[in-house]
Amino acid sequence: MKVAIAGGTGFIGRHLTQYYIQQKASVVVVARKKRKPDHPLVRYATWEELETSLLPLEGVDAIVNLAGETINQRWTAEAKARILQSRLDSVASVQSWIERMERKPVLINASGVAIYGTSDSETFIEESEWKKDDFLASVVDQWEMAAEHIPDTRVVLLRLGVVLGKDGGAFPKMIAPFKFGLGGRIGTGRQPLSWIHIDDLCRLIDFCIEHEEIEGPVNATTPMAVTNDAFGRAVASKLKKPYLFPVPAFMMKMLFGEMSMLLLQGQKVFPSVAVKHNFHYLYPVIEMALEDLLADKK
Ligand code: NDP
Repeated sequence: MKVAIAGGTGFIGRHLTQYYIQQKASVVVVARKKRKPDHPLVRYATWEELETSLLPLEGVDAIVNLAGETINQRWTAEAKARILQSRLDSVASVQSWIERMERKPVLINASGVAIYGTSDSETFIEESEWKKDDFLASVVDQWEMAAEHIPDTRVVLLRLGVVLGKDGGAFPKMIAPFKFGLGGRIGTGRQPLSWIHIDDLCRLIDFCIEHEEIEGPVNATTPMAVTNDAFGRAVASKLKKPYLFPVPAFMMKMLFGEMSMLLLQGQKVFPSVAVKHNFHYLYPVIEMALEDLLADKK
């Protein structure tokens, strides 16, 4: 098996690379800068290099596209343009590779549950109607539209929930106040958090590659979303720390601007495709995930 991971130097990409090394698969990491290989099964290619030669992608069975400007910054007009354009550009490049490849690989294109918009009460599955009424929903919608129209190849639109890992993404920042005894709910605390453990995400990506009947949107979340309040209580309890300090919505808005919506609003997402195909979660409930993620932090 040979997998290309575009944006493979980031949080998810690094874990996915390790996952495939353990599976003894070859990995081609596509990045903006050239890097020296640090493992015999891994090689690096730049986007620029692949414009002229597809040699590094020879024999690739799957492309996983994770590339895109981080959303973890103030959403100024310029940042918003970069967040959208970097994703449209990466999909356009991936499309041009696939068009030039004789043997077509499956494409797993990262997207996000933000596509469903936000709601405290609704549950969204892959077929749910969604409303493009905020910036992120509209980015994900345009990102998916670009990817789903790539011809002659199987495309999985992997709608990621919040990916929980010890060493990247949102989790270290979410738990930081708890370590200082300053944990509490954010805003009303009723906003849902649809999440997945990084190990389950890597396994789900591989599952989608292996199951040829899976295509189109796939929610990458556990079946057991929690509210912000339930998440906070579980973290506090696992760390044996107090849960006393609610953070009011206005403070989040002052600190993070429009990006504060990521913490103040959410969506409850159910992974009906994964469940229908009997995907087995190692960490289906938040307490099990925290047991693993906070193992050394007590
Ligand atoms: P990271 O930000 O950690 O990694 C993304 C990678 O994309 C970087 O390593 C970088 O690689 C590349 N990149 C950054 N900016 C650009 C750019 N302007 N043009 C091309 N490539 C760029 O993200 P994650 O691994 O956490 O997430 C992967 C994808 O999944 C992202 O698109 C993210 O939005 C999405 N997602 C993630 C969630 C999460 O909880 N982590 C939740 C929902 C969606 P390099 O600098 O080497 O080129």
